[in-house]
Amino acid sequence: MTGLVLKSTGSHYEVLIENKKITARLRGKLRLISNKHTNPVAVGDWVELATDKNGDYLIVHVLERKNYIIRRSVNLSKQTHILASNIDLACLLVTPVFPETSFGFIDRFLVTCEAYSIPAILVFNKVDLFQGDMEELIANYEAVYQTIGYTTLRTSALNGTGLEILKNLLKDKVTLLSGHSGVGKSTLINAISPGLNLKTGDISEYHFKGKHTTTYAEMHPLSFGGFVIDTPGIKGFGLVEMQPEEIGDYFPEIFREKTNCRYNNCLHINEPECAVLKALSFGKISETRYQSYLAMLNDEENGPYRSSH
Ligand code: GDP
Ligand code: ZN
Repeated sequence: MTGLVLKSTGSHYEVLIENKKITARLRGKLRLISNKHTNPVAVGDWVELATDKNGDYLIVHVLERKNYIIRRSVNLSKQTHILASNIDLACLLVTPVFPETSFGFIDRFLVTCEAYSIPAILVFNKVDLFQGDMEELIANYEAVYQTIGYTTLRTSALNGTGLEILKNLLKDKVTLLSGHSGVGKSTLINAISPGLNLKTGDISEYHFKGKHTTTYAEMHPLSFGGFVIDTPGIKGFGLVEMQPEEIGDYFPEIFREKTNCRYNNCLHINEPECAVLKALSFGKISETRYQSYLAMLNDEENGPYRSSH
């Protein structure tokens, strides 16, 4: 029999088999092959199961994944584990403040999605708080990302803005939902899919104890069809082993321009006749995006690249 993994803790797994949720363990053999990834079974995996002599469920095989997102294990810096797999859509929940989501954070998220070829959308939540003069805060973000071609949406779990559109975007898909703690992920999911009753937190709680104690991703079935993968406590996912020349390819607007750079190995830092720098000077590429690009080039993995700008 086959099932869909809803939760994976490394010791036990919640699996959906024909609308029934069961708990399963890994067959020993499967555990042994997992030398590269610390946990061979991820949320979103389709798996084959068997039962042992006690009637307990065992995962015996993981079916081929369409895609997966990797993140580094917290304690073992060289080791990675799969955060989630078979993702149709990545949805980043953003609030300009309460709490702040920085441009840099958004760009890392989007670059990761581009690298994995996962379509991404940005959802600006709590728009009820961003009215009047505050509206400009969201408009600034929208201007940057809509120009590049990303789909953006304004929502409010409080007054219902955008919820029908969000449902249509998520319907029948496996959506990875991400965003800082406190942006309203649980509240929003509860609003569009009543009955899930995901735990929500009071903003003030985050500073003292934190709402979440685990960092396990969990997949929830949506009442109108599809699934959403919640990644509590996960601040972002690292791109593993990315070459400096590759990074620009995951910024669609840089990728579009770079064919016109003089050198085809141009890193768009200070090279002569660089089409990316030209587009930046015309305002065709946004300053915040370019700064994120430089920051990613300068990540510890990628070595120092200095800009003359
Ligand atoms: P999560 O950590 O991303 O799951 O965030 P929660 O769903 O726990 O929400 C954090 C806080 O933001 C809670 O106090 C919610 O009531 C509040 N919140 C969520 N969505 C909205 C919204 O659309 N508008 C406003 N004003 N508050 C919201
Ligand atoms: Zn260039």
